[in-house]
Amino acid sequence: MKTYKNTLHYFFSLTEALEQLPGIGKKSAQKMAYSLSVEDKYMALKIAHSIENAIDNVRKCKICGGLSESEICEICLDENRQNSQLCVVLHPKDIFTIEEIGDFEGKYKVIDELEKIDFVFFRKYIQENKIKEIIFAFSPTLANDAIMLFIEDKLQDLDLVFSKIAQGVPTGIGLENIDQLSLLRAFTSRVKL
Ligand SMILES: [Zn+2]
Repeated sequence: MKTYKNTLHYFFSLTEALEQLPGIGKKSAQKMAYSLSVEDKYMALKIAHSIENAIDNVRKCKICGGLSESEICEICLDENRQNSQLCVVLHPKDIFTIEEIGDFEGKYKVIDELEKIDFVFFRKYIQENKIKEIIFAFSPTLANDAIMLFIEDKLQDLDLVFSKIAQGVPTGIGLENIDQLSLLRAFTSRVKL
């Protein structure tokens, strides 16, 4: 196997590269590598091209930290969304989940690294945008509750109401795995902190 593997250098280096993706094990990586390099080379080139474009163009919005293909994202630029609510999420992908429901009309803030939150900028943003309510859209875990308390503590002198999406969202599950109806219910029956 060892010599055989050495003669398939490109195939195995593709497999190893794919294995580094989150959630991809060895077997899936091999299956994907086979499909890309043998079964459908045209699709593979399209994927390669999409990856290149994404690398060049996708970044995090300077204001909210959500995904954007320009410096500031569409949501932050949208003046119709000034409804004084700010939804705090833990990952840019959570914005997709909430936007899919289509019920929330405020703006977002992504907190993916607690240590990196610029509270000076954040406070200024809250004041300038006349934010009145901070809604934490986190799944309930002890660690997430600690993040909420930390942020609330840092902003407690501002005139804000803090709420979190209602329980009923299962513990420890990412927002994207909750069905839309449950998430909508959790949103509308959010509770004050
Ligand atoms: Zn933004």
